[in-house]
Amino acid sequence: MVAYRWVIEILRPTGELIGREPVEPDFSPVLEAGRLAYLRLHGPPAAAEFDRPMTIEPVWQSKLGEPYVAALRVAANGNTEFDEVPISVFRQTASRASSDYVARGLLKEGDAFIYLVTAYRHDGAPQTVGARRFSVTAAPAPAPRERRWTEAIGGEVEPGSDQPRLALPRQVLAEVTDCTRGTPGVETGGILIGHLRWDPEARDLFVEVTAQIHARWAVGTETRLHFSAANWTEVRSIVALRKQGESVLGWWHSHPVASWCRQCPEERQRVCPLQAGFLSEEDSTLHRACFPRAYTAALVCSDVADGEVRFAMFGWHGGQLGRRGYHIHGGELPPAWIGPVVDDGRKASEKRGEACVPK
Ligand SMILES: [Zn+2]
Repeated sequence: MVAYRWVIEILRPTGELIGREPVEPDFSPVLEAGRLAYLRLHGPPAAAEFDRPMTIEPVWQSKLGEPYVAALRVAANGNTEFDEVPISVFRQTASRASSDYVARGLLKEGDAFIYLVTAYRHDGAPQTVGARRFSVTAAPAPAPRERRWTEAIGGEVEPGSDQPRLALPRQVLAEVTDCTRGTPGVETGGILIGHLRWDPEARDLFVEVTAQIHARWAVGTETRLHFSAANWTEVRSIVALRKQGESVLGWWHSHPVASWCRQCPEERQRVCPLQAGFLSEEDSTLHRACFPRAYTAALVCSDVADGEVRFAMFGWHGGQLGRRGYHIHGGELPPAWIGPVVDDGRKASEKRGEACVPK
């Protein structure tokens, strides 16, 4: 196995090189993306080898060639290629490097820059990419059990995409709404449990959330939420009592937006992008630490005003966290697909209003 040294080049839009920064990327989310892709392709028999060691190889840019990286190829031993992820996984590292350059006077605040990812072969010991750095909670390898999607949600809505479909009961939304309203002004949250399923008809995985467990011992402030060890103990005992063999599929937490924006004029509050839901840096760090599997999700419940609670779902996609769609089902209404867009119909990426208060 070839080992690589990874270096980010920061350039001005004119192509002038500002600097090179050696980086030690944390490839865990990329590996998890590869593992899930492999499981989606081969189904339950592949679950036994879910945690095997894997390699990450650069795919060279077609025009610039080596050492310029166009994408990352995730492969299992034996070199069976099974996923490629974009180099945007380096974006955060690049923007951190650019902040350093601003501090050192090499770039001005707000200056545009370009980054290129390069990789250099070296003879040292190859990185042990199979070892996960994040292991706050044990995340056992999934063993998807068979169930048809139509049976799980009581209908057929929208085919699967590049992410596995996620089914969420309306009952769960009702419960998290009550919990959110019950703690105005501070964050609260909980754990989503259920099953990773294999649909033998669609020949694909899907995520079936069955219940939420309110984290009664989590400590919430106006802008943060900390889960405690007692929460995990409670989750394990509730899962054991339910005897359904459920596993942890993610979490939900509230954002008391009405409280954050209480000083702002009403017309400003109405267009405040905080209402659309987002993952703060702490939220993303928590997700990476506690929910490393690529099929896990994070539901954000924004308590916007007058008790109205809006939902936004986030999940892993190609090794990065971003908005994702989901299906709601149960109750009187037919199942429905909720796309990864904000309430006014514009895509999240198009919505760039200024927030009332920085979080
Ligand atoms: Zn948050």
